Amino acid sequence: MKMQQFVVIGLGRFGSSLALELMDLGFEVLGVDLNEELVDDMSAYLTHAVVADATDEEMLKSLGVRNFDCGIVAIGSDIQMSILTAILLKDLGIKTVVAKAISVLHGRALEKLGVDRVIFPERDMGVRVAHQLVTPNLLDYIELSKEYSIVELRVPDGLVGKTLGEINPRVNYNCSVVALHKRTGVIVAPTAMDVLDAGDIMVLIGSNESIDKFEAVINESE
Ligand code: ATP
Repeated sequence: MKMQQFVVIGLGRFGSSLALELMDLGFEVLGVDLNEELVDDMSAYLTHAVVADATDEEMLKSLGVRNFDCGIVAIGSDIQMSILTAILLKDLGIKTVVAKAISVLHGRALEKLGVDRVIFPERDMGVRVAHQLVTPNLLDYIELSKEYSIVELRVPDGLVGKTLGEINPRVNYNCSVVALHKRTGVIVAPTAMDVLDAGDIMVLIGSNESIDKFEAVINESE
């Protein structure tokens, strides 16, 4: 399979961190920024890094941006630049365009342009950290939709030694344990017979309301 190639427009805090992580994951990354200093700093770490204005269509064409699998618009504060860049990436025919938004309205505009995925880094991180603060056992939190989420919870002391059947989250809290990380490996779709050991991590899916209820029980049993 052809290796996926990413073009990251805007190498600020968000764009540079994303670009470096994609490199670490073994993908090819072209970084683009107007700021020469930022491009110089990043050039040693990315496949290519160029100083360019992403709203210059001819420039994007000459960089061969249309051949990339995924384009990420990591420009936030200048909404006009963000929107113009997103339009150009879509028009060039990049299969997947992802863009960072700094406000709800900015996000709505990007969605209307056909951007495939809009990210709100500050808002999403705020939500995530709030959940982690109130539930110390919460390791990760993914919002599937406004109503449903997936969470990763460390098994609290109070539940150690119990089977999933005894806790019965599906019946008692209306959420399901879809995986159980144990020292010995991951059990996908665990059964009622599986026992929770100290240090295990549960992956739960359910409505936010039902997950909140389950988290409250977990907090009490700590
Ligand atoms: P972060 O929080 O990730 O640091 P930010 O939203 O504070 O981002 P911005 O000012 O939005 O930062 O811009 C991120 C980067 O995008 C900057 O380094 C900026 O130079 C670059 N940038 C802005 N407009 C363009 C453009 N038209 N072409 C290329 N790069 C651009």
